[in-house]
Amino acid sequence: MISDYPEPKIKVSCEKCGRRAQYDRDAMIKAGGDRRLLDLLDAIQERLKCETLERDPDIYNKCRLKYENIRPATPNAYEQARDG
Ligand SMILES: [Zn+2]
Repeated sequence: MISDYPEPKIKVSCEKCGRRAQYDRDAMIKAGGDRRLLDLLDAIQERLKCETLERDPDIYNKCRLKYENIRPATPNAYEQARDG
């Protein structure tokens, strides 16, 4: 949930196109209610997505925002190895 976000500022970024955005966590909850973080990310993605990448026929080259302060729920093998 948005209220679980670890910092007062919600930060998103996309490594494909370099877009970044920052939102006030409490303001987001006030405006749209507490939602699942994935739902919020979808909503932000709709607003910020890069039209150039959307038109790219390469399905792997798509705009994809991520939360900057949150680790993936299931760390991949690489991260597990790196972090020991
Ligand atoms: Zn992007």
